Amino acid sequence: MKTLFFGGSFNPIHRGHLVCSLSAAKSGGFEKIVFVPSHRPVLKSRAYDLALVEHRVAMLMLACQSMKGSSVHYDLDLIELHRSGPSYTYDTVVGLGGTPDHKIDWLIGADQLLNLHRWYRISDLLKLTRFWIMQRPGYPIDWSQVDPLVRSLQNQVVPVPPTDISATQIRQKIRDGQSIEGLVPETVREYILTHRLFIP
Ligand code: ATP
Repeated sequence: MKTLFFGGSFNPIHRGHLVCSLSAAKSGGFEKIVFVPSHRPVLKSRAYDLALVEHRVAMLMLACQSMKGSSVHYDLDLIELHRSGPSYTYDTVVGLGGTPDHKIDWLIGADQLLNLHRWYRISDLLKLTRFWIMQRPGYPIDWSQVDPLVRSLQNQVVPVPPTDISATQIRQKIRDGQSIEGLVPETVREYILTHRLFIP
């Protein structure tokens, strides 16, 4: 099955991840999306309010179930959770069997582009990985601002429906006692409420 891997903290998984990855998969001819939840995101600050991995995984499973019936199959791979320490995409791609002749397809949002050249072993990672970049509201892509190391990705932008949802916004709404209806699958919303996630 032609597979597109999608890494992130998924704290929590939200409709932006689902709508955009589905659209990216369809335009790239992928049959399967595989979420790769990170153990500890490398570039997020220490103050980042990260839910327990068990919860993030449970929510991802619910989200996969919510996508049943769509033309793309959704699954998850816990490869990064089996390693300790920071989750470097380079290690993950090597673990997934990426080689220069068999590159791993990896989906990222446009907000990652300005930082991508700082990713661990980026030059080696680029040899093993075919990145696909989704547009994201609030993060217009200006290639002149992108580090020359990763400018080769200019042809790898996939148009997706602009979806102005972030996990930060969802966590903030929960802290403020506001509804997150419509921002996450209904089963994920119920899970968050039941387990009182993201409430200080
Ligand atoms: P946070 O707000 O906590 O930083 P996030 O909403 O950006 O989280 P992540 O789990 O960090 O979610 O994102 C995983 C991947 O999905 C990243 O590559 C990110 O750029 C991308 N992404 C997340 N939300 C969107 C969106 N609404 N549109 C396009 N790409 C997105």
